[in-house]
Order: sequence, then C-alpha cells, then structure tokens
Amino acid sequence: MIYLNNKLVPKNKALISVFDHGFLYGDGIYETLRVYKGIIFKLEEHVDRLFRSAEMIGLTVPKSSRDIKKAVYKTIASNRQNEAVVRITISRGTGPLGLDPALCPKPTFVIMSNQFYNYPSEYYAKGVNVSVVNTRRNYGPALDPRIKSLNFLNNVLAKIEAKESSSYEAVMMNYQGYLAEGTVSNLFFINSKGVLCTPALKVGILDGITRGVILDAAEELKIKTKEGYFRRKDIYNATEVFITNTSMEVMPVTLVDNIRIGRKAGTHTGLIGLKYKEKVLHYIEANSQ
Ligand code: PMP
Repeated sequence: MIYLNNKLVPKNKALISVFDHGFLYGDGIYETLRVYKGIIFKLEEHVDRLFRSAEMIGLTVPKSSRDIKKAVYKTIASNRQNEAVVRITISRGTGPLGLDPALCPKPTFVIMSNQFYNYPSEYYAKGVNVSVVNTRRNYGPALDPRIKSLNFLNNVLAKIEAKESSSYEAVMMNYQGYLAEGTVSNLFFINSKGVLCTPALKVGILDGITRGVILDAAEELKIKTKEGYFRRKDIYNATEVFITNTSMEVMPVTLVDNIRIGRKAGTHTGLIGLKYKEKVLHYIEANSQ
C-alpha cells in the first residue's frame, strides 16, 4: 500500500497527475528512512530535515511532524514490513504550466515503503570501488545541496559517469575541486595519522543523518575526526575509505579511481561499522515498547 495525500491506497491506484510540478519541474523534496525490527531509525532527525528542506524551497508541509510520523508507521504496518526502506516525497502539487509555486494550491504527499534486502555481503567484506567524476556537486548559491530535493539531475549525471567506469558510486567534488559527496552517500576516509576525515558541510553537501551518527560513533571509539576541505589526492593517500547512507550504513571502499586502498574493509571502518550497528540496536531498544 502507498500513502497518498491522506490515505493508504493500493500500489496500482497510487497515481498522480502529469501536471504535478514534481514531475514537470523536479519541484519538491524527499527523505529516505530505514526500518529495523519495525522501528524507524532516527525518525525525528529525518522529519526535521524534511521540514528544513521544505522551508528552503518555500514549501508548506501539508502535515504536522506528528502526523507524518504516524502516517509512516501506518504505511509500514499496512505492508507488514519490519525491515524496510521508506521514502517520503512531497512535491509542490498539481497546477497549470508555469514556475510560480502559487499555481499549486496543494502539495502532493506520498509515503512508500519497500522491503529491505541486504546488500551483497561481499561488498562489506571486500569493499566497493568508486570514481571521482567530472560532474561537480551543485554550487550552493545555485541549488543548495542541503536541500534534499527531487531535482536530482546533478546526481544522476554523476551516476552515469560512475557507471561508465563500472564504479559502484561516484564521488563528486564541489565547484572549487574539494571533495564533496557521493550521488547518494557521504564520504569518509582515514588519513595516515589515523584521523577520520570527512568533507565539511560548508563544502556544499547534504547533512547526512548517517554521517552524524558516524561522527558520534567515532567520538565514542576515541577516533579523532576532522571535518574539512580535502582534495582528490587525500583519498588516494588514505589508509581506508568508506561511504555512508541510511540504507547501506557503512560501506567500505577499497578502490578509488583504480587506486587500491586495501583488499578488504579496514580496521577503523570495521570498528565504526560495528559501532553504528550497536547504536541502531540501542535506538531500537529505546524506542520499542
Ligand atoms: N548525500 C546525498 C546526495 C544523498 O542523496 C544521501 C542519501 N540521502 C546522503 C548523502 C546520505 O544521507 P543519509 O545518511 O541521511 O541517508
């Protein structure tokens, strides 16, 4: 079942208009969440980010934060999914052609939940490959990467480049050539001094919810962290590299632009990955009654 506007409808009835400005102009926002044992991890943080994205595009979210949380739980319950990936999408809504948001009186609100299938275990054991692509991450003052928007062409173009070089994920730099983020992930690496490094938010990236949990996990593990401006050579010289997002969690990277970083997941990456899982378990325990 799909939650569409105010009710659950069967998948084949979950249809929206060709005049929807999400379809016509990519005018809208979304969130992806992960469900573990029937509990949505970091639901509060995701809903907060949804509201922040909405505010940054001048969109009034058609529901309260409380009602959104209820609707998400209702959706996963209706699909009897305990392990799932949920997507909340809000578009500007249906209206005549034209860019003026005022043409769309009512935003379109959708919640979809899909069964979560584990990524292949060898990805976590052996690591994946990434390539630093030519497509630059959107320039902040043009389209701020902090907005989790439906306008995803920047990322799609980077993904096409990654596919051309048979890479699992693309790493984009910002307009100045500083490492930014993946098409659907944040980037981390361990430098030669054992410091966990990740591009600073100021570089122009999405403030990943997983990224935040990883930085907390590193602190608990007493691993030093640095959020900063890094160059391509910094990941070439890294001892470990990994990427993160809500569904893949901590994914080791062992090949960057065909440069070998390792043959298997690094020690720090392993520890951080385990700490992440521990934090998920604590969260589930604390939030299930
Ligand atoms: N950067 C981009 C561009 C993304 O699309 C995502 C996935 N939402 C991330 C980073 C990771 O964010 P999160 O940890 O909140 O899933």
